[in-house]
Amino acid sequence: MQNRDAVFLEDLCPKLRDRRWRQSLHNFTGRKCIYCGNTSESIDHVIPFSKGGLSITDNCVPACLACNGSKTDIEVFSWYRQQTFYDPRRAMAVRAWIDGDRRLAMRLLQWAEPKKINRQKACTNCKT
Ligand SMILES: [Zn+2]
Repeated sequence: MQNRDAVFLEDLCPKLRDRRWRQSLHNFTGRKCIYCGNTSESIDHVIPFSKGGLSITDNCVPACLACNGSKTDIEVFSWYRQQTFYDPRRAMAVRAWIDGDRRLAMRLLQWAEPKKINRQKACTNCKT
């Protein structure tokens, strides 16, 4: 009953649906920019809106304002390769995301996230 009401409310109110959809995108990356790893404050159209990119999950990634602002309507991978924070794992994550494979994208982002790596443990294992 409650669930039905919620769906009904979202159908009546596209703004609410839009906000929830945006929130769900941010949740995929833990509110991190897919390009640089800073806090995601916006949703970036991988294929720019101005070039016919759609507002669908496969074309919309969480991004910080700095990345979103500097990317403008440049092709995403040519723009990204020129950034100082370019990370091939993140580039692969973007590719996976636009291919519709969110799970792979998240795994690649976790791999790229340095804070989650226990460096000390890795060092004692690989030294000697
Ligand atoms: Zn960013």
